[in-house]
Amino acid sequence: MKYIAPEYMASFKCDGKACDSYCCRDWKVVIDENTKNKYKALPNDEAEKILSNVGEDEYGRYFLRLNEREVCPFLGEDSLCKLQKKYGEDFLSDICFSYPRVTHRIGDIIQQNLTLSCPIAAKLVLFSEGISFTETEELPKRLGWCTNLTNRLIFETYPLSLEYIEDMESAGLLLLKNSEIPINNRLASLLTFYENAEKFLDEKEKIEELLNSVESGEFQKNFTSNQSYDIIFENNGYLALVLKLFSALYEFTLTDEKFTELKKIYEARFNEFQKFVVDRNSQIFTNYLMNEFFLRIYPYAFDASFTVNAKVFVFSWEVLKFALFMLCVDKGLDEEKLIFGVRQMVQRMDHSRGAMERILKIAKDC
Ligand code: SF4
Repeated sequence: MKYIAPEYMASFKCDGKACDSYCCRDWKVVIDENTKNKYKALPNDEAEKILSNVGEDEYGRYFLRLNEREVCPFLGEDSLCKLQKKYGEDFLSDICFSYPRVTHRIGDIIQQNLTLSCPIAAKLVLFSEGISFTETEELPKRLGWCTNLTNRLIFETYPLSLEYIEDMESAGLLLLKNSEIPINNRLASLLTFYENAEKFLDEKEKIEELLNSVESGEFQKNFTSNQSYDIIFENNGYLALVLKLFSALYEFTLTDEKFTELKKIYEARFNEFQKFVVDRNSQIFTNYLMNEFFLRIYPYAFDASFTVNAKVFVFSWEVLKFALFMLCVDKGLDEEKLIFGVRQMVQRMDHSRGAMERILKIAKDC
C-alpha cells in the first residue's frame, strides 16, 4: 500500500481558538460504530451521559445532537473538545479525528489531503509557495474516515485505467502546475488531455505516448497562446452556464431581472477581474486547483467518464471564480474575503446533500 499526501499536511495544526471551533458548529457529526462502542464501554453513568447526545438518522447512521446554539455538546469554553481532553485523541470519532484531513483509497493507494472548508487549512494551502507531494509505504497509525473509490465503474469497463491511476492523476496535476501559463489555458489542456486519454483507454501504447507528451511538456505547447477557452463555455454562453451551475449548487431559480442585472456587472468588470485578480494571483489559485484535484482524486472523483470528471472539476472552479468575482465587485478582494469565499464554496460542495450530483448532471448533459 502506498500513502501519498502533500507536504503541507505535516504543517497543519488545528487551532480551535483561531477559528472559533468552526467545525464543531452547524454540521452533522457522524459517529462511527467503533466510536459508539467506545462510549458504551465507559462506566455506566458516563456512557449514559454521552449516549444521550447521540441520535440516529433515517439512514441508520449515528450522529451527535447539537445543542440549542447548534454547537457540539462536547465543545468546552476553552474551544477544546471535552471528550478528547478527558479520554485522549483516540476517543475522537473517525470524522472528528480526520477533519480537515480527507482520505481516499483507490487501488493500492491511500491519499490524504486537507479540505479548504477549515479556515486554518485554507490559509495554509492557498498561501503556500507551491505544492509537492510525499510518498511512503508507511501508513499513519490511524487514518480516520476513509472513502474507497476502487469500485468505480471505469475500472470494470477499462481494466487498464486501474493500472494507470497514478499516471492519470499526476498528468492532471502537472498540467495544472505551471503558474506561468494562464489558468484558462491550463484548464483547456486538462479537458483535452482527459478527452484524449479516454479514447485510448484500451490501447496501452497510445496511453503511454500521451502521458509521455505531458511529462515532456510537448502536450502543453499547444496551449500556451491566448486562445479562447471555449471547450465547454462557448463564446456568449459563459455567464448562462456559470449561473446555471450556481443555481444548481444553491438550489434557487434565477429571475430574468436578476440575470440582466448580473450580466451588466459581468460585462463591465469580469475581464478586469480575470486579468488583475486571477492571473496576478496565479500561485494562490494554482494551489487551490491542485489541492482540489488531488483531494477528490480526479479524474476518478465521480462515477463517470474522464471527460465528465474533468468538466465537473472545471465547473467547480468556474463557480468559485464567479463567487469570488461577486465578492470582489463589493469592495475588492483581500486575504480574509478570499479565504471566506473559498471556504463557503468548498463547504457547499462537500456538505450539501446532492450539490455535486447536480453539477455532475449538468456536466453529463453538456
Ligand atoms: S479542524 Fe480547522 S475548523 Fe476545526 S477546530 Fe481545527 S482549525 Fe478550526
